Amino acid sequence: MPGSSRTSPVRVWFCDYCHFGPLNVSLDTHCANCNHQRCAYCRNETIKSR
Ligand SMILES: [Zn+2]
Ligand SMILES: [Zn+2]
Repeated sequence: MPGSSRTSPVRVWFCDYCHFGPLNVSLDTHCANCNHQRCAYCRNETIKSR
């Protein structure tokens, strides 16, 4: 399967409270700027690194 192991998309999220980001989904459980905990209102995004 081409492209399966070459790049791994990184899941990030943006704080809905202060709009800080991107933050790593797997590493950052809280916003590094305002310490807001990631909730359902925070925006999730997938970044394809290359
Ligand atoms: Zn924040
Ligand atoms: Zn939130």
